[in-house]
Amino acid sequence: MSTQPADRREEDQRVNVDHPDGDTGIFDAHHPPTDERISDCVHCGFCLPTCPTYALWGEEMDSPRGRIYLMKLGKEGAVPLDDTYVQHFDACLGCMACVTACPSGVRYDELIEAVRPQLERNHRRRRSDRLFREMIFQTFPYPSRLRVAAAFGALYQRLDGHRRLERAGLLRRLPERLQAVEALMPPVKARNLLRRPPRFVPARGPARLRVGMLTGCVQRVFFPDVNAATIRVLAAEGCDVVVPRAQRCCGALSEHAGREQEALARARRLIDAFGQSGVDAVVVNVAGCGSTMKEYGRLLRDDPRYAERAAAFSAKVRDVTEVLAELAPRAPRHRIEGRLAYHDACHLGHAQGVRAAPRAVLRTIPGLEVTDIPEPEICCGSAGIYNMVMPEAGADLGRRKSANVVAVDPDAVAIANPGCLLQIRRYLPPGVPLFHPVHQGGRSHQRPPSGSRPRARPAHLRTRDLLTGAGQRRNLARSRRPDASHRAAGGPQVEPEVRRLPRRPGSDPRSRTTIPTPAAPMPQAISSHGGSAMSGRMSRTLAHTGRARNEFVGWFAVTSRLRGRWLSSWAIRSGM
Ligand code: SF4
Ligand code: SF4
Repeated sequence: MSTQPADRREEDQRVNVDHPDGDTGIFDAHHPPTDERISDCVHCGFCLPTCPTYALWGEEMDSPRGRIYLMKLGKEGAVPLDDTYVQHFDACLGCMACVTACPSGVRYDELIEAVRPQLERNHRRRRSDRLFREMIFQTFPYPSRLRVAAAFGALYQRLDGHRRLERAGLLRRLPERLQAVEALMPPVKARNLLRRPPRFVPARGPARLRVGMLTGCVQRVFFPDVNAATIRVLAAEGCDVVVPRAQRCCGALSEHAGREQEALARARRLIDAFGQSGVDAVVVNVAGCGSTMKEYGRLLRDDPRYAERAAAFSAKVRDVTEVLAELAPRAPRHRIEGRLAYHDACHLGHAQGVRAAPRAVLRTIPGLEVTDIPEPEICCGSAGIYNMVMPEAGADLGRRKSANVVAVDPDAVAIANPGCLLQIRRYLPPGVPLFHPVHQGGRSHQRPPSGSRPRARPAHLRTRDLLTGAGQRRNLARSRRPDASHRAAGGPQVEPEVRRLPRRPGSDPRSRTTIPTPAAPMPQAISSHGGSAMSGRMSRTLAHTGRARNEFVGWFAVTSRLRGRWLSSWAIRSGM
């Protein structure tokens, strides 16, 4: 394993970027990926086994090493900035498992965060993709809009919309992406939609710390219980908790998707919102938000008004488990019995390097056995909006993760990110509750009724409160629950089933794109960008036409259902 610094490596090991001074190839001049960062990679391939997309497809260009090579080609102007090029970066989950695995210290996180805004600025996506992304970014970062969507979701669940649509055969006619959104919808409680956390909660006993809390967008609308538990636990451990009302979205979703200006505007607003709160730390209970907020200093480095404040703000950002792990336990812990599987959210483990703190916090609870999930480095497929924009890959990774969860036969699962929770919940068999780690902490602070023995899975919690049945029932057949006796016997774990993504010949640019491994001679340009340009364009057009027709048929069938069944039947009979 090579751990020598980049400047002492053999020149031919490095990815050398060859271009005239000042030329940035297909990228514009605003923060393109730097030559220095690209050439830190020495092609060793240590990152490949931890990359989820490489695990799924085995394609070099869907690995960290291949994507870095694509950046080099882009910087040299050796490839066009087209759909094929963009797709390899869209397929990246941004999980940062490669950053953890790389022995040469390659900052893939900085590289991909430089590339994504370039793609958003300089490449025009197809219309359906633009519309879908716009729908997400006009809803998710706005809690008030999200509440309206959640209210419709509550009505949909109340009327058992999933079963009705499925019975009418309409669900499978929806575009895959909308099916994914529908399946990921968490159980919505109407009373939660109006809940607001208090602005200030004093510490119980003498205050040890004054902390500000981020309420998050999805978190505050769909998981207000997690925010309430966070406040309760922090106050019980001696923290004054401030919850600024003016706070809005932190910009993480936009930043991970390359919507740079949007992300920066949100970062500035959040810094302003916490500006007067005088807190010692800004506490976050969402892994994805925390990882971006810790990067505000770098993101706003060009802004003379905010650069300094952003760096100071980032220095204060802490995951809630980091704060709790640093404070000597003050609140009494009561016994909770059971086996709790801890899931490492990528944006906590890989991006923030926070792995020990959540486990340490959970292990302060007597009786609780905290266990790891196999393949902790592999992403669950949630990755911000990934499971919605790349539903097939997201589903494969979700099944793989859920099989790994099932393999340790837990009584409950602790997950520090709402996106991961929704994703794993979708593929997990019913009966395994999922919690944020602070939930278990909050429960252990409460004295149990005399004579009762609290378990990791509370008896009063009905499974359907935590796991709405539809998705889980559907996936029950796909997951294999091991014989519980394996635990006692220390016996074999379930081997997760990994299905390769089905290829649609002619419609998947990946199938026409190859890049040799670094062991083979590197080409001047990617083969897929040469060859028959006409046949490539034609097959792309045909694929797009087919996809557009399928999406139209799906939508047509749904709207027809609302107007009258006969119209739907006519559309289907006509072969549209
Ligand atoms: S990014 Fe991957 S291939 Fe490149 S140096 Fe790091 S581990 Fe090796
Ligand atoms: S961020 Fe994750 S998906 Fe992207 S290249 Fe790295 S390991 Fe692979």
